[in-house]
Amino acid sequence: MARHTVTLIPGDGIGPEIASAMRRVVDATGVDIAWEIADAGEHVMEEFGTPLPGHVIDSIRTNKVAIKGPITTPVGTGFRSVNVALRKELDLYTNLRPAFSIEGTGARYDDIDIVIVRENTEDLYAGIEFEQGSAEAAELIDWVAEKGAGVIRPDSGISLKPISVTGTRRIVKFAFDYAIANGRKKVTAVHKANILKHSDGLFRKVAYEVAEEYKDSGIEFEDYIVDATCMQLVLHPEWWDVLVLPNLYGDIVSDLAAGLIGGLGMAPGANIGAEHAVFEPVHGSAPKYAGKDMANPTALILSAVLMLNHLGEREAGDRVLAAVKGVLADGERVTYDIRRTRFGTTEGAVGTQAYADAVIERL
Ligand code: NAP
Repeated sequence: MARHTVTLIPGDGIGPEIASAMRRVVDATGVDIAWEIADAGEHVMEEFGTPLPGHVIDSIRTNKVAIKGPITTPVGTGFRSVNVALRKELDLYTNLRPAFSIEGTGARYDDIDIVIVRENTEDLYAGIEFEQGSAEAAELIDWVAEKGAGVIRPDSGISLKPISVTGTRRIVKFAFDYAIANGRKKVTAVHKANILKHSDGLFRKVAYEVAEEYKDSGIEFEDYIVDATCMQLVLHPEWWDVLVLPNLYGDIVSDLAAGLIGGLGMAPGANIGAEHAVFEPVHGSAPKYAGKDMANPTALILSAVLMLNHLGEREAGDRVLAAVKGVLADGERVTYDIRRTRFGTTEGAVGTQAYADAVIERL
């Protein structure tokens, strides 16, 4: 029997290509993993009538650990995000997104070392929405007017932004525990509490309460407004250490952080709950590159490094990270996005699988 069984969700768009590259790299480390392939996404809609079939969730529940490629979410219409559904279904309340510089990416900065801890289950991503023109939207608009709470134009669509004490406590605790376990120095809670008093204001208040419980941990704590955070991340990326944010800001700020380290092809992530963990890159399914063997698999390979660490296979994770660093520093066998950022041209780029081969050769 294999040492680990891991659910592998290849996903949509570039997902299957980068998943195969990642799997080849992980297998080449010699770590004994049985991959249980579970298809989810736009492409399984026709067969199962849903983009997230029950057996995919069952597989993750059984194996406890999964790694997934990106899944397409139609904009505005169609099914709700599978990614959001998965996080809610398994209560994967933390989205951990480390952003660190690797030499050779051509990124504007070479000293980035930031960890984004994004709340994954609440906020505007709670999926509580009322369609413009629906009876429910009209009822809610009337109710708000009756309570004297404000005027909402009758032709509005509405999305709710719930933020709870429970949800905030556990994500801020996660940020502190992560900081302690990983030798970090500071946690910053990021919000827009000056405007959103009852949602972000609560997030800020609870964050301070949790920080008080950790006051002897040696971890510094501060809070910051999200717009100012974005500017200071660009001006002074060295100021930041562990950032903890509500869902929407966490999503946006992690793309900003990806930009600081050379782009979305470089940014790994993990969705972590009390019992399960699903590893996935920050980026989406980049449909225009699907099937072209062009996409950069680094973000998914680095997500696999996080997964190997989680599985207790730290030595293998370190080897993969060192191999990726070697290939990027060398710069000869890298994908189009890295060539473009580093040399200003995509000429000389290699494909997804050739890049994986280069990583495997260095393991
Ligand atoms: P995206 O798929 O992340 O792609 C945006 C751009 O980022 C690409 O055009 C490409 O830029 C660059 N990029 C992304 N991944 C890359 C990679 N592996 N290698 C090199 N470059 C990469 O964002 P999107 O086009 O907005 O979203 C597409 C779909 O993915 C949507 O349906 C969205 O909902 C979904 N999505 C899913 C997840 C998830 O599954 N967790 C996350 C985010 C988005 P250039 O064209 O400039 O090279």
